[in-house]
Amino acid sequence: MTDTIFHKIIRREIPADVVYEDAHLIAFRDIAPQAPVHVLFVPKTDIATLNDVQPDQAQVIGRLAVAAADYAKAQGFDENGYRIVMNCNGDGGQTVFQVHLHLLAGAPLGRFGT
Ligand code: C5P
Repeated sequence: MTDTIFHKIIRREIPADVVYEDAHLIAFRDIAPQAPVHVLFVPKTDIATLNDVQPDQAQVIGRLAVAAADYAKAQGFDENGYRIVMNCNGDGGQTVFQVHLHLLAGAPLGRFGT
């Protein structure tokens, strides 16, 4: 398993603006936000990409989605809406190879492909 910048954030070796943490995951503000609110949800389980998720690890990904939705609801974005994105490998735009979910909110985001 490659040690990534997100592993260093999980171990608190480098700073991040952490908005949520529990035994399973950490959530922090993206340093290059693509929306007024841009938070990353990262599991503490080592998984490089969505391709690497094993059937018995489905809960790892599920927890990211639930945590993102809970955060969005707590911030009042549930009614207007928000977007969650998971990039996978090069064409998907993945740059950090510890699986993670992007939560984008706070403005109309437009539709993909338009
Ligand atoms: O999906 P992808 O791998 O491209 O997402 C990585 C994200 O991690 C980027 O949006 C980047 O801005 C963010 N990042 C961060 N803090 C770092 C390094 C990268 O928020 N120290």
